[in-house]
Amino acid sequence: MTTTVKSATSDTSAASVESLVAEMLGQPWLIELFTELSERQEKSSAATARLREVDASNHVFWPFHAPQFPLVATGAHGSRLTDADGNEYLDCHLGFGAQALHGHSPEPVVEFVREQLAATTGNGYCHPVETKLVELLREFVPHCEKFAFLNSGTDATAAAIRIARAHTGRRMVAKFEGALHGVHDLGMHNTAFWYHGHPAAPFPGGAEDGGVERRPALTGIPVADPRDLLVLPNDPARALALIERHKDQLACVLGEAVSSSFPYEEHTVPLIRSVAESCRGLRIPFILDEVLTGFRYGPGGAARHFGIPADLCCYGKVITGLGLPLSAVGGRAELLDHMQTSGLPLTDIGRKTCVQTTHAGNHLSLCASYASLKLLHEQGETYYEETRAKVALIQRRLSAFRAETAIPLRLVGFGDFIGSFAFLEKESYADYREFAAATNPIAFFLLTLMLRKRGFYTLSLPMLFTGGAHSVADLEAVCDAVTDSARELDGHGFPFVLPTAGGDET
Ligand code: PMP
Repeated sequence: MTTTVKSATSDTSAASVESLVAEMLGQPWLIELFTELSERQEKSSAATARLREVDASNHVFWPFHAPQFPLVATGAHGSRLTDADGNEYLDCHLGFGAQALHGHSPEPVVEFVREQLAATTGNGYCHPVETKLVELLREFVPHCEKFAFLNSGTDATAAAIRIARAHTGRRMVAKFEGALHGVHDLGMHNTAFWYHGHPAAPFPGGAEDGGVERRPALTGIPVADPRDLLVLPNDPARALALIERHKDQLACVLGEAVSSSFPYEEHTVPLIRSVAESCRGLRIPFILDEVLTGFRYGPGGAARHFGIPADLCCYGKVITGLGLPLSAVGGRAELLDHMQTSGLPLTDIGRKTCVQTTHAGNHLSLCASYASLKLLHEQGETYYEETRAKVALIQRRLSAFRAETAIPLRLVGFGDFIGSFAFLEKESYADYREFAAATNPIAFFLLTLMLRKRGFYTLSLPMLFTGGAHSVADLEAVCDAVTDSARELDGHGFPFVLPTAGGDET
């Protein structure tokens, strides 16, 4: 049985989502689910409540998806996670995907880091492993001539923007609506739809520069100056025309080959490739954000896999495979040289830029990265073949499930492999806003909790990051759990498909 919201209007308005939530919250099966989860993780709940009184860090804050029933994790190995109450979970979250290459605590990586730790210099020194890592990276991503190491994906995209501005002497940055580039002020404009509460909140209208109206997702971020930011629609003809029109102001264009908020590479890759090629012709630096796609479309990431000509590429996430913070900007030497000293300090003043921070590229992270990527190198193409086969297995199972039940459960994702379970009517969406409007935020929330009940950990969205972390049996078990959850939701008359939204302010 596939139902739609009874009180359907032509809009997925905040009011219709709120009334659906209110209608559901009093239902006995949901109360039972909340009670079961609360009883199962009493220690975690008490500890996180205490922590929140004095610790404002939030492992994730997305307006729609603040994590429910936060866990205190006491241990993790491979695909398994243990919590403070002694529960064991199969981990689909894997540290926002950062541990998806080999799973938690891969033995050779842990051993290598442990050896180095005994004689650590920590940050702020050159370390011999840096040379080895750069050589390995050059093999993986030969389109990058030089690298700079930083701490996070946010650092990497912010640094790439600064380098491009230093190179061109211009200030305007173009980014796509919905693209996710980290939490710096420009990155947090018109980012993934769930940060802004779309589809319940309307999409922004048009800006005076011809792009999308600039809109920060968070408080504390002033609306960007039109001289600093141009927000591109995900429409190839309009995006290319806007870049052409602003070619003399643009310091760079920033894009993802495929994004978690628009995960359909058949649409996004041709768009990004044509934008990157156009930028090359117009001599505007193109920055490819490979924080999610790096090492996940084969070792060369999306740039190599799809032949996207990027001037700078940003890497993060799986780069250490151990959850130690590290990111890298790689690319054309001509650009990276803007941040590299000439060797004559006085000559640098007023002529160079800098993205260095105290802990940037600390040597334990470099060691973890070297050991983890070396392991990937040793596994070679087999690693990717095996991962693709595992994902194909999930897709076959879900396809059979849809045919049997007509419940529109899908795994949408890209690369090898980043994705999320969702209830979506269509196989693919050509339009970013149509896709955002078709996603059901309540389904995300419920699926997360129903998977948790069955012993599968996702954070606040039913995301699946996988790779060497999970065995075939693990992923069969994930399929059993997610299809069983969907059947249970169906049994409760859950409205999988929201009424068509698409409301915007244009
Ligand atoms: N770029 C992309 C594509 C991302 O998905 C993310 C993180 N979700 C970032 C940049 C920011 O990375 P970090 O969280 O390490 O700052």
